Amino acid sequence: MGERHVIVGAGPAGLTAAWLLARRNKEVLLLEQDPRAAGGLARTMELQGHRYDLGPHRFYTKSDEIQEMWREMLPEGLMEVKRRTRVFYEGKFYSYPLSLGETLRGIGPRRAARALCDCLGARLSPRRPEASFEDWVVNRFGRELYETFFRTYTEKVWGVPCAELDKDWAAQRIRGLSLVEMLRKAVLGPLRGRGARSLVDRFLYPRLGAGQLWESALDDVLRRGGRIETGEPVVRVRHRAGRVECVESASGRSFAGTHFYLTMTLRNLVRALDPPPPPEVLTAGEALRHRDLITAVLIVERQSLFPDQWIYVHAPDVRVARITNYANWSEDMCPDSRTTAIGMEYFCARDDGLFGLDDSSLLALARQELEHLGLSHAKAAAGGRVHRSLDAYPVYDAAYRRNREILKRWIGAALANAYPAGRKGLHNYNSQDHAMMTGVLSVRNALDGARHDVWSVNTLEEYAEEGTLAARDPLRAPRRGTPGN
Ligand SMILES: Cc1cc2nc3c(=O)[nH]c(=O)nc-3n(C[C@H](O)[C@H](O)[C@H](O)COP(=O)(O)OP(=O)(O)OC[C@H]3O[C@@H](n4cnc5c(N)ncnc54)[C@H](O)[C@@H]3O)c2cc1C
Repeated sequence: MGERHVIVGAGPAGLTAAWLLARRNKEVLLLEQDPRAAGGLARTMELQGHRYDLGPHRFYTKSDEIQEMWREMLPEGLMEVKRRTRVFYEGKFYSYPLSLGETLRGIGPRRAARALCDCLGARLSPRRPEASFEDWVVNRFGRELYETFFRTYTEKVWGVPCAELDKDWAAQRIRGLSLVEMLRKAVLGPLRGRGARSLVDRFLYPRLGAGQLWESALDDVLRRGGRIETGEPVVRVRHRAGRVECVESASGRSFAGTHFYLTMTLRNLVRALDPPPPPEVLTAGEALRHRDLITAVLIVERQSLFPDQWIYVHAPDVRVARITNYANWSEDMCPDSRTTAIGMEYFCARDDGLFGLDDSSLLALARQELEHLGLSHAKAAAGGRVHRSLDAYPVYDAAYRRNREILKRWIGAALANAYPAGRKGLHNYNSQDHAMMTGVLSVRNALDGARHDVWSVNTLEEYAEEGTLAARDPLRAPRRGTPGN
């Protein structure tokens, strides 16, 4: 058999690999379990003429290479959107990323004084060792602001107390933000003049939703001779003598190849291996945990709704954690000027009560919570749909690093032609650009004999050609104030 590249998963990581391979005239076969749209977690769906993503998906990167790929993948280009996002807490809105004056005013003089004292205390005597998410945030913001602006939302997302969540998540997602930094901005910001553009206040977005770019990338792959099989969940990865020979789907079809790019969860990859790996590897795979996500999409009247692209709902009396209003992303996603699609996100585990509710109960809950928050009248919600995204968030618990390392070592040593990639495939809290970069580096490893460490894209370590430290990649630069992709 000549060279044949088999890619499991048509999300951003798999599609990026396919797109690059097709451009290098390689034979490409994409296998996707979903029968419908391309784009994985970043796909766009349609309901009553409204387009919506499964959660807010802005495009941002500090990598010129990724920016250039976006331009080529979507020839009509991406729009620039001025970001507006706030936290909703105790019936009030607070800008997010937080601004010092507004935050202190909003919480009132008593709590503001306590917040400043707490923060000073945390600076003078920080928690050591700084191990958990809670330690990390309390050290930078003090207890009061941690309780008000970080704890509830984070615990809704992850379903565990913040003291049990590894600090890596905070370090990756809210690095660079602290009360001291807010103070510096409050004092120096006005002196520096307005209008400075940053990743924080603007982002890129395709006119018809995040998935438009991925649909366009897939079209390009197909035009260049690549193939896709949808509705084919890969359940078996057969290997022999240190190489993957073929993958098999649930329908019993077998797909042979010379190179395999695998973007399913690491846990599912380990389960699919035939013959099975050693017990230590199986145990490590089973121990990696994820959070599932329910998105209840409602079509509502725009009039009374918030002007933000999304809001974080910190209120502990509702289960919804984030609400996205797609009319505020792109007017072209709505068929008329009176209505909009909103996505209400519920983070959960598939064995908790919420996940087991049927669609009509979930839509009723979403309508009732929207009304309870005072954001829209339930009767204005004309239609709805429920999406369940399994394994949407890789959990960074105390054991994840060790388990991931076991899997990385074993796969690296045992399967020469397998390239795990992407958010779930590397158990890494990746945004689209990072997921794409793992696809880019995997293709370079496969075709050019490079030895990039894809596992360390978006972690605190360097990812580099083996033996040398590569130039600092802009993708790894910190992003501020993005607590929940
Ligand atoms: C709510 C939410 C909001 C987000 N917001 C942003 C944002 O604002 N900006 C940003 O850049 N990123 C954001 N992200 C992250 C972004 O969605 C991911 O980084 C990106 O989708 C990861 O791409 P991937 O290809 O690695 O994985 P996925 O998108 O998960 O794609 C994997 C694909 O593989 C398929 N698959 C899985 N297992 C199998 C199997 N066994 N057989 C066949 N097919 C299989 C899946 O169906 C899926 O299509 C967000 C994520 C979520 C959940």
